[in-house]
Amino acid sequence: AAKHDNCGFLLYSESQEQSSRAHLTFKSELRQAIENDELVLYFQPKIDHTTARIMGVEALVRWQHPKRGFLPPDQFILTAEQTGLMQSLTHWVLEKALLQCAALHKAGIFINVAVNLSARNLHDKQLPANIARLLDKTNVEPSYLVLEITESAMMADQASALVILNQLDKMDVTLAIDDFGTGFSSLAYLSKLPVDEIKIDKSFVMEMMSDKQALVIVKSTIDLGHNLGLKVVAEGVETLEAWHALTEWGCDCAQGYLMSKPLSAADLMRWINESSWA
Ligand code: C2E
Ligand code: CA
Ligand code: CA
Ligand code: CA
Repeated sequence: AAKHDNCGFLLYSESQEQSSRAHLTFKSELRQAIENDELVLYFQPKIDHTTARIMGVEALVRWQHPKRGFLPPDQFILTAEQTGLMQSLTHWVLEKALLQCAALHKAGIFINVAVNLSARNLHDKQLPANIARLLDKTNVEPSYLVLEITESAMMADQASALVILNQLDKMDVTLAIDDFGTGFSSLAYLSKLPVDEIKIDKSFVMEMMSDKQALVIVKSTIDLGHNLGLKVVAEGVETLEAWHALTEWGCDCAQGYLMSKPLSAADLMRWINESSWA
């Protein structure tokens, strides 16, 4: 039977040699995909709890592979991390996301755009300067760019990550901790990070209406975030019941299938014209 390795790529009963050869192929295909614009950005709306209207989108990458079809990010992000392609992948995503944001602003739709960074990116000393250059080139105000960084990425190599996070903070972009609650970071360390926002992991949000423990975690994370002066975002909002509960608990922003799945740029424009959340 077919099984996936952690690059998401099919391993039958291949020999070691065959599979490492296949790995090299996958890597060079990914490099070409980045160069040839085979990657595609999807955008998932984020909704403000106060107004119940869109306030931003998260950019999520996919790969339109000529033979393997439409690949979700968990099938190639790890390969990018392991093969030194993360820097160029992130650069590609940032540029496309900022171009989309600029196009929305031109159309009078002033929402922000969030881009996911990986642990690797926090070691890249060029990153702040590269982001500044892209903001300049696309003419997007820094305050419209949100950078989502997982709790575990922030914790890895804290000293060098902190230097880069502080530089980004000075540029006035918004920094968010992604998948909050899934890492083992100390609150003491987290409170020293220059972050503006925390994103409660969808595993808690999806369970909270049926699981008392998940509910307590979500409610206390909202309070913790607010007490630290941070904005709190919930991801994985799939039901109206969850939306209403989060509103009542003072959550600032929600993202999830209830409002919209991630959409292509064209579908996002349609959604903005038609949805009651827009
Ligand atoms: P993430 O940053 O936590 O993104 C949220 C994921 O949850 C997305 O999956 C989204 O489609 C999914 N999601 C959103 N709302 C719901 C919901 O209501 N229910 C459920 N069940 N799922 C929901 P996606 O697009 O497959 O992305 C998976 C992960 O891949 C992302 O998790 C992120 O860690 C990574 N990723 C995606 N794009 C990029 C990128 O450009 N750069 C990097 N470094 N990582 C990326
Ligand atoms: Ca994210
Ligand atoms: Ca800041
Ligand atoms: Ca997340």
